[in-house]
Amino acid sequence: MKSISILGSTGSIGTNTLRVVSAFPHAFRVVGLSGGKNIALLAEQVEAVRPEIAASGSEKGCLELQSLLRQRGYQMERTRFVYGAEGYVEVSCHPEAAMVLSAITGAAGLLPTYRALECGKDIALANKETLVVAGQLMMSRAREKGAQILPVDSEHNAIHQCLRGGRRSEVRRLILTASGGPFRETPAEKLRSVTPEQALQHPTWRMGRKITIDSATLMNKGLEVIEAAWLFGVTADEIGVAVHPQSVVHSMVEFVDGSVLAQLGPTDMRIAIQYALTYPERWACTLPSLDMRRLARLEFLEPDREKFRSLGLCYEALRRGGTAPAVLNAANEVAVEAFLNRLISFPDIATVIGNVLENHKVEDASDLDTVFRADAWARESATSLTRRACQTAGRAGD
Ligand code: NDP
Repeated sequence: MKSISILGSTGSIGTNTLRVVSAFPHAFRVVGLSGGKNIALLAEQVEAVRPEIAASGSEKGCLELQSLLRQRGYQMERTRFVYGAEGYVEVSCHPEAAMVLSAITGAAGLLPTYRALECGKDIALANKETLVVAGQLMMSRAREKGAQILPVDSEHNAIHQCLRGGRRSEVRRLILTASGGPFRETPAEKLRSVTPEQALQHPTWRMGRKITIDSATLMNKGLEVIEAAWLFGVTADEIGVAVHPQSVVHSMVEFVDGSVLAQLGPTDMRIAIQYALTYPERWACTLPSLDMRRLARLEFLEPDREKFRSLGLCYEALRRGGTAPAVLNAANEVAVEAFLNRLISFPDIATVIGNVLENHKVEDASDLDTVFRADAWARESATSLTRRACQTAGRAGD
């Protein structure tokens, strides 16, 4: 039986992971859960899986969680209740956990994931920001500890599967597919007036809010380019992006002889999650097979880099290296939040990121302190830029 801790259990990936785990009650045991603000859902999850440890975002949340569970007659001594950054680390480093499913959104997931690697745990990684922010540190810690990082992100999961068909030295390039998001066909001049509600309408996947906005700006694909560079040891020039609106081909690998292997499947994250949890085995899955009628029309298009500037900014950050990707990621997190709060417009997201990146003096990202300092600097810069953009546009920000 494999014991797992789940970081971000109350999110889209977290709840799907619990669905996968519950389909194999004799194979998996959940020893740790961590949520953020959604205490009601975390309480339900604790009641269902009875973990050894459960973390919430704050002390208040932790007390609320315990109070809810007491009211429901939960055997409180079964679980230890912790909270905040230290609590998340306790969940990820729980001695009984063999694997950590990392699915907190954004850079907040970095510390518990990194500490889990230091404890030698295998990581099923959904939280791409972790590798974007501290790829060098994460990969070297994994190598040093003999821990595996198995990608849950559907594109990287696809590439991981395709790479089983050849040697690393035989790879010419990786091709990440992108749905193109809800504004693929929207004229550039109309983007200034799009609303958060429109941006949250992803055409093919149901995901958390932050990644859905990242998909609309193509930032998500850019973050994935950086994630792929670290995971698979390739350069920016060896990673291409193809817009594939049908989201059936999850990604591809081109080999040196011109052969291309692609991984196809239904748009359901449970397949990638199960693959990461059961690797190197493949277990039978009860989800419906891919509907072959969906293959009747498959398009692969060049991304519009002028309209979606974030993609190019990610390539630039990857090439600059060091703390540049951490800065790019932090600026994006601030800008996305500001857009969701209607403080800045949709195109302002890329403008803010571009300005922050331009003003950053890159340092070597060889220790966590440097990375966190760069992250904090970028958040401050991005916040003041969003305030300025908001005042210029006469919006209601402070
Ligand atoms: P959600 O927004 O649905 O869930 C995020 C989870 O993280 C929730 O449990 C949330 O808690 C918790 N969380 C959010 N912010 C914090 C914080 N500051 N500190 C601690 N916990 C926090 O996101 P998704 O599940 O969609 O995505 C999670 C990660 O997986 C992201 O990095 C995303 O890029 C990646 N990913 C997601 C995919 C998907 O299909 N959804 C596909 C590929 C990658 P609460 O809700 O209780 O506040």
